[in-house]
Amino acid sequence: MAGGHDKPLPVPSPESRPYWDGARAHRLLLQKCADCHRHWHPPSILCPGCGSRDHDWVSASGKGRVFSFVTYHRLYHKGWQDELPYVVAVIELEEGARMLSNVIGIAPDDVACDMAVEVVFDDVTGDVTLPRFRPAGL
Ligand code: ZN
Repeated sequence: MAGGHDKPLPVPSPESRPYWDGARAHRLLLQKCADCHRHWHPPSILCPGCGSRDHDWVSASGKGRVFSFVTYHRLYHKGWQDELPYVVAVIELEEGARMLSNVIGIAPDDVACDMAVEVVFDDVTGDVTLPRFRPAGL
């Protein structure tokens, strides 16, 4: 993707390291609570549902729906100048966790809430892969 190296990239923390390692291997990993069985994102030490510290990392299906989105027509960072306009969306995964990402492979005007999407992995650099979403079934 043009200009990819100019973008601010996520820096893994101890809690999010398994998530980013999974993304590099093109797997979408979520934390799943061992007590209340909720899936969550973004990575954190405590389950946001019940406060448990006991969780497993599990593979998500990568399927979900657009929960909400906003289309950016203005430039907030020069790294994205080749991609305007672009869509930042909250994706609700099948597992119930919500994650902030981009919707790609579709004109921004055609993005709609509740649209079915699936994950694609964008290898931005040799170290960082960003999960993004495209319309399901393309
Ligand atoms: Zn829990």
